[in-house]
Amino acid sequence: PCTDFDVAYFHSYAHLGIHEEMIKDRARTESYRNAIFQHQDRIAGKIIIRLWKKVFDVTSSSPLDWLICASPDVEYCMLMFQVVVDVGCGTGILSIFCAQAGAKRVYAVDASNIAVQANEVVKANNLSDTVIVLHGRVEDIEIDEEVDVIVSEWMGYMLLYESMLGSVITARDRWLKPGGLILPSTATCPIIGHNAVLLYLCSCTWHLSPIQDRYSESIDFWRNVYGIDMSAMLPLAKQCAFEEPSVETISGENVLTWPHVVKQVDCYTITLYELESVSTRFKFKSMMRAPFHGFAFWFDVEFGMPAIYPSNNNTRTAFVESPNNHDTDGNQRKKRANPNEALVLSTAPEDPPTHWQQTLIYFYDPIEVEQDQVIEGSVTLSQSKENPRFMNIHLEYASNGRCFVKESVMR
Ligand code: SAH
Repeated sequence: PCTDFDVAYFHSYAHLGIHEEMIKDRARTESYRNAIFQHQDRIAGKIIIRLWKKVFDVTSSSPLDWLICASPDVEYCMLMFQVVVDVGCGTGILSIFCAQAGAKRVYAVDASNIAVQANEVVKANNLSDTVIVLHGRVEDIEIDEEVDVIVSEWMGYMLLYESMLGSVITARDRWLKPGGLILPSTATCPIIGHNAVLLYLCSCTWHLSPIQDRYSESIDFWRNVYGIDMSAMLPLAKQCAFEEPSVETISGENVLTWPHVVKQVDCYTITLYELESVSTRFKFKSMMRAPFHGFAFWFDVEFGMPAIYPSNNNTRTAFVESPNNHDTDGNQRKKRANPNEALVLSTAPEDPPTHWQQTLIYFYDPIEVEQDQVIEGSVTLSQSKENPRFMNIHLEYASNGRCFVKESVMR
């Protein structure tokens, strides 16, 4: 059921500012556009003919293709519709990219009032025959057919904040055909089936950056206020400054340890149950002697092919032969993207900045660590009971025999 939390959540997406920020994030938006065009053969409608007991994809409609189509030997010719659903279409931008890539039908779904604007944009671009805007939750609306492709930009801070991935899973389980494509997906290499949405955790130090000044500005400041000792304020000052996670950009220089993978999500197989709580143990070695201020989180997504390919007898699949599908030396090649070349959208500190930046959890007091000093512990991310869109972060860590626990909520 649609709760008050959902109403507030969708209301926040009715404001144009948030969409402007996302669209202006070129790393994000261009990754999606490139991924959609990289997988065009799975998105675009196709014209398939059967000739001499062989199936050809004559989509390119070159004069040669039409000559072949006109041949009396053609046994059948059909138009294969590829259907896409855009989970959380916002302004409709990803749906329109799919239409530009040749999709014959795109269901653009959004529960926020931004869907009304998306519909206007679709109309103004003469795409109403292709892009069908559905104003409602993917959990509630009806689509009367199966879909070939799901595209969605569902990632929140620390990947899982906002809990929107659950809606993509719902869409997948309601409508995706077996072997259908999910963007972003995970399966970059079907042979080992490894996953591709990564959530990293590393420890950071700010001893090289102006953050130290920020620490003294908001914490040490209380030690002497117009000559008055207000140190009694210190615990509250630390709580106010460091209780909640903060979204900031750090650079490679702030990184104190190697990353550790908290969670790998395979969009094809992950279940709602697995998302309720995500937990991992970590063991880091500090790369240098430094004050250790906390942990940073970020994520990567990959736009790869599904781990399981549809069977060969389905003409709609990537195995269709085409007259254009031969190398110059005549060798036939499969029209399948090399899984090792999956496009990646990374929000790591060393990569170009995105609107997600990194999410930082600060300790209330920095820990001085030596080079190679071991820091170990665990982290648990879970949906908050207060509001399922919020995320609880439970951190336990130990170094040099001292143990700490930090609880925070991302609201
Ligand atoms: N696809 C757009 C917007 C992404 S933001 C773009 O890339 O620019 C995510 C959007 O998903 C928001 O507009 C939000 O309202 C919508 N959304 C989140 N959960 C949803 C759900 N369960 N059903 C429908 N829309 C949802």
